[in-house]
This record gives sequence, structure tokens and C-alpha cells, in this order.
Amino acid sequence: MKTVNHWIGGKAVEGTSGAYGPVTDPATGVQTTRVAFASAAEVDAAVAAAKAAFATWGTSSLATRTSVLFAYRALLDRNRDEIARLITAEHGKVHSDALGEVARGLEIVELACGITTQLKGELSTQVSSRVDVAAIRQPLGVVAGITPFNFPAMVPLWMFPLAIACGNTFVLKPSEKDPSAALLLAELAAEAGLPDGVLNVVNGDRTAVDRILEHPDITAVSFVGSTPIARHIHTTASANGKRVQALGGAKNHMLVLPDADLDAAADAAVSAAYGSAGERCMAISAVVAVGDTGDKLVAKIRERAEKIKIGPGDDPASEMGPLITKAHRDKVASYVQGAAAQGAEVVLDGTGCTVEGYEDGHWIGLSLLDKVPTDADAYRDEIFGPVLCVLRAETYEEGVALINASPWGNGTAVFTRDGGAARRFQLEVQAGMVGVNVPIPVPVGYHSFGGWKDSLFGDHHIYGNDGVHFYTRGKVVTTRWPDPEDGGVDLGFPSHR
Ligand code: NAD
Repeated sequence: MKTVNHWIGGKAVEGTSGAYGPVTDPATGVQTTRVAFASAAEVDAAVAAAKAAFATWGTSSLATRTSVLFAYRALLDRNRDEIARLITAEHGKVHSDALGEVARGLEIVELACGITTQLKGELSTQVSSRVDVAAIRQPLGVVAGITPFNFPAMVPLWMFPLAIACGNTFVLKPSEKDPSAALLLAELAAEAGLPDGVLNVVNGDRTAVDRILEHPDITAVSFVGSTPIARHIHTTASANGKRVQALGGAKNHMLVLPDADLDAAADAAVSAAYGSAGERCMAISAVVAVGDTGDKLVAKIRERAEKIKIGPGDDPASEMGPLITKAHRDKVASYVQGAAAQGAEVVLDGTGCTVEGYEDGHWIGLSLLDKVPTDADAYRDEIFGPVLCVLRAETYEEGVALINASPWGNGTAVFTRDGGAARRFQLEVQAGMVGVNVPIPVPVGYHSFGGWKDSLFGDHHIYGNDGVHFYTRGKVVTTRWPDPEDGGVDLGFPSHR
């Protein structure tokens, strides 16, 4: 069986704690790999390597950093297929979806290649006689990233390329459920010429995370994962004096107004609800049908959903793969099985799904629940599976109020032909990312990604300008260079002249 270890100080390092976790192929249900779980001492070794590397990387020239990043970009591009293959083998998503994930991660490497522009700083000349003021941004030091299972390459790429471009060194703790892609990312960074210790990967569970949260040499923590853990990371790392951005879970709503193109809305709802088997933090998991659209929309969604082909991610015919673990599959199924008793109409029940030749895979088909009450578990919880809830609202106002009552505020979308209504929605809806006739409005790399309310704890969104701000701190330098002809003692109080 393959063993996944750590990457510390520019090389693969075997785990010494004796603790391992299983990595399973979700399509077969068979454990293929064991992943080493780092002890606190192993995390300390990674932080020490990062701290040592910061001494030179933190003051390296921008040209040095960007030349590595350009080489890294080319290597990632060349290895897209291999990274996607590793993702499919451990996560289960279909290959085309895994390739999409790599492409969105590459965007942030491209952003990092342009760090020279982002770090230009500001200068005011002659703020007083012969006095200039410069605002510069400097790296923080050793920073850490803790990432979820559902984007094993993209989410790490949201973090470390920008962090290291800003001059920091990095310790990454990937999800223990699908750790191999992150290790390949680290190996390729070394091949691109990244100096030893600038990027380190420690695998593990809560033990490793707890050590990261308390380690005195870690200055900032980026986290992406579920809301309860995001809240814990934010509280604990903040209490330990660290800068924190902690992105949490979501329940993303799509508001369909009566004037919308219902075929386009149904296409979008099916793609956004069931893509990656619903294991996306930007998945649409609730459709709010306004006015008389409900019955027609549900019929169109059902018609499309019934045609989706479920199968192993490495089969090009598959459109939707399995769920990450058997336990998660069973939990997702329990929401569908309990929905009718809680007042929902079960239009499609995917819980009986099997795939021939893959009997032990973590399969579940597409489920569609209509007229879901807002107090039903299927609506209240983030299910993180291929289950779409449809709710009904009489008016636009009722629909927006329903969305705004949600504790989450990650992404949302409105489908309409009415520009005025779309404009109102943008301003009135309480979410960090809004789509107008776009169901999954993940911002491009040069904007920032982040939700509101229980979908993000901290002040900074991730990547884009917010990312650069998060990974640097400001300094303002006030300079006076006297004119060679000036001179003389002046006991007056310094003032603007
Ligand atoms: P998770 O919260 O279970 O795990 C995320 C990370 O935290 C992993 O590295 C894991 O090892 C670690 N972790 C888990 N339990 C911990 C504990 N008790 N103490 C310390 N560390 C712990 O999330 P997941 O199941 O891997 O990922 C799915 C979740 O992530 C969903 O809720 C999804 O919405 C969310 N997510 C959010 C975004 C976003 O941008 N907001 C993006 C992707 C995923």
C-alpha cells in the first residue's frame, strides 16, 4: 500500500509518530493509501524549516520570487493531467471536473507571477518641506494553511503561491482524506526552483492543526473547511495572537424570478447542485422559486437530473462520481430518507444508486426535494452531497428575506431577465459572492473569494487584493532629506511647512 508522508525542508520526510490514516478510492471503497499523521514535534520541524528559509526568502528580490513562480506555472500546466488523476483517485470527482479545479488553482499562480505590480506600494512626495511618505508592505514570516478535502489542489493553490510571492514561507496541512495532490504540488514547486523550506507540507489530523494554532513562530493561518472547525480555528488562532482568515461552509441559494428563462435556470441549477456530487462550497443547494415558476422549474430540473450518468471519475462517460467516504454517503442519504417525514416532497430519491462493477463505492444518486420547509434538516444543514432543495416564495421580497435569514452567506445567484431586479438583488442580498444568471460565481483570481456570516471568520477574503493584504503588513516611512543648502538648529515643534 502506498504511504503518503510529509514534505519538510525541500524533501520527502517519513512520518515518525506511528499514527496513520486511511485514504480510500471512493469509486471502489478500497483503501489504497495510508497517510502519516504528524505529531506536534513533526509540525515543529516543518515550522523550523520554514523559519530558517524565511531568513533569506523574506528579503529575496521580487525578480527571484517571480522567476520561480513563472517556472512553477509552466510545470503545473505540464502536469495538469497527473494532478487531476491524483484528485480523482482520492476524491472521486470526474476527471474533467478535477482538471477544472487545477485550472482555477493555476489562476492564483498566475496572479502571484504578477506580484511585482501588487507590491508597488504608495508614495507621497513633499508632504511637508522636503518630507516624503512611503507606504510599503512586508511579509509576515511563517504562515500556515489548513485545507479541506473537496478541492485538494485548488484550495492549497489559493493560499501558498500568493503567500510565498509576498515573501512568506509556508506550512500546509492538507485534508487527510486526499493528501496526494498537495504533495505533488510541493514536489513541483521544488522542481521549479523554490528554495528548501519555503513550502512545507505536514499531513495529519487535529493533533497537527492544534500545534499549528498554538505555535509561536506561525504568524498567520488561512483555513478553508466546515463552519464549526472554521469558528474554532478563528477563535483559537486569534487568541494566540495570529492573523486568521477562516472560510467555512455554506448553503447557497438560487433565486428564480418569474421572468427568468426557465430552461437556462434549470440547466444552471442541475450543473451547480450536482456537479462534483454537490461537494462544493459554492454548490447551489437551495432553489427559491418565485411566483408561479415552481412546478415548471421542478419538472425541468427533474427531467435533466434523471439523465445524469453516475460512475467512476476516471470513466470519461461519467458525469458525477461518488462521495468522499462511506460515512459521508450514509449521512447524505439520511437527509433524503428523513425529508418526507419533515414535510418535503421527494421528487427524486437517489439513495438506492448502485454502479455495476463498483458495488462497494460510495455511490448516491441525484435527489430533488420540493416544497422543503425551512425547519427541515435537509434545508437547515449543509448536506454537501447531490441533494437539491426547492423552496417556494410568493414574491421577490419574500425570496430575498428567506435567503437573508440563512446563517450562511457564501454564494448566491439570481436568475432573471429584469436588470432592475438583478441590481436590487446585488445590493440587498447578504452574501459575499453574487451571480446574476451565473450559478457558481467564484471570483476570478484577481478579485477575492469569500463569504459573509458563518461562511467566513476574519476580515480578509482569500486571494486577489485581500490575499496580498492578508499575507503582508503595512509600514509607513516618513523621510526628510535636507537640501544641501539647509542647516541650522530649530527648536520649534515639527509642523507642516
Ligand atoms: P473539515 O472542516 O472537516 O476539514 C477541514 C480541515 O480541518 C482538514 O484539514 C481537517 O483535517 C481539519 N480538521 C477537521 N476537524 C478538525 C478538528 N476537530 N480540529 C482541527 N482541525 C480539524 O472540512 P472538509 O469536510 O474537509 O471540507 C468540506 C467543508 O469545507 C464544507 O463545509 C465546505 O463548505 C467547506 N468548504 C468551504 C470553502 C469556502 O471557500 N468557504 C471551500 C471549500 C470547502
